[in-house]
Amino acid sequence: MSVCEVCGNDYEMAFEVHAAGAVHVFDSFECAAHKMAPICENCECRILGHGVQSSDGRFFCCAHCARVQGHRELVDHA
Ligand SMILES: [Zn+2]
Ligand SMILES: [Zn+2]
Repeated sequence: MSVCEVCGNDYEMAFEVHAAGAVHVFDSFECAAHKMAPICENCECRILGHGVQSSDGRFFCCAHCARVQGHRELVDHA
């Protein structure tokens, strides 16, 4: 039994996510995304796919959003 660190649900099917040396426990992918997913700096949606990262370390959900913010070098990786 593990307790989700986002919503506090004590759920027998909870799973662990190992990231950057830390271990996180979640009961659902929704909670995992809430905690782990970066947020697009243009449209503020949660980035659940690959997303794109600009040369100065900012995250965007897609190359379109990156270009809107002035990063013309970024293109989608299809
Ligand atoms: Zn949860
Ligand atoms: Zn976006």
